[in-house]
Amino acid sequence: MNRLLSLFASAALALGGATFLASHTAVAADSAPTTTIKPLKVLLVTGGCCHDYSRQKEILKQGISARTPAEFTIVHEGDNKTDHKHSIYANKDWWKGYDVVIHDECSASVKDIDFIENVLAAHKAGVPAVVLHCGMHNYRSEGFPNKTPWFEFTGLKTTGHGPQQPISLTIVDKESPITQGQPEWTTINEELYNNVAGGVEATAKPLIKGKQTITDKKTNEKKDVETIVAWTNDYKGTKVFATTVGHNNDTVADARYLNLVTRGLLWSVGKLDDKHFKASDQNVDVKAIKVEPKPDAKKASASAVRPGIEILKDVPCCGNE
Ligand SMILES: [Zn+2]
Repeated sequence: MNRLLSLFASAALALGGATFLASHTAVAADSAPTTTIKPLKVLLVTGGCCHDYSRQKEILKQGISARTPAEFTIVHEGDNKTDHKHSIYANKDWWKGYDVVIHDECSASVKDIDFIENVLAAHKAGVPAVVLHCGMHNYRSEGFPNKTPWFEFTGLKTTGHGPQQPISLTIVDKESPITQGQPEWTTINEELYNNVAGGVEATAKPLIKGKQTITDKKTNEKKDVETIVAWTNDYKGTKVFATTVGHNNDTVADARYLNLVTRGLLWSVGKLDDKHFKASDQNVDVKAIKVEPKPDAKKASASAVRPGIEILKDVPCCGNE
């Protein structure tokens, strides 16, 4: 009898467990509809001068994937160089199969107009884009710093930045779907990119401005500098979201930044809604990201950074003051 009872109890427990699992799964499915959504195919192109792209690519992948279903393809090349031409862009129709491209590459010294036009061909063909931080300083072809094909694409002319100081962010377009529910915050030490034309291009709409208080090294006087740091652009009918914020890993890993970038990305593909976007207050844990040390990293930076810095002496960017 005892044995029978015990068997019965085990069966009941197993059944109860199964029932719990079934109902739990049902609840999870109801409250997380994003799991049934087809993931966005995201192409992240990264690498080049002056940033920790080995970690930042992981931060972006983890942070964006935690907020919307996304499948990342990452092209990471050219670290410590300002003149690297990412190999994928040499291909015809390099954008085929992707829903959106994140330009996080930093190649200020690439001026080859045929190469640049092949990068832009994707967006002329209607592929939406997100442009981050040094992505704005890419491709300084003839006409720089006034009119270049890259500035026409990004929607804002910028040539450099001041010292690393906190940036206080203020939303200027409270009606934009991208800024809905977004907080205004002050970053850690960051680079405030200049706006050489005083703001965005006619095709662009400012979303967020950033203010730094900087001290003049000679006179010790403090002054406020304010520029547009996030905006959208209509590039020949293609949606582009851009932000100049994001030099340091801890800024990129900040939940508020990742919410903003994910909202911008979803807006660019026409999917910024509750079904696709789940806000998160979780920062990405930068220390948990393991990066393989490159044995020739020192040699590469000694031989490659110097010419780049030299080229950028008159128009500082990418980590230089
Ligand atoms: Zn930077």
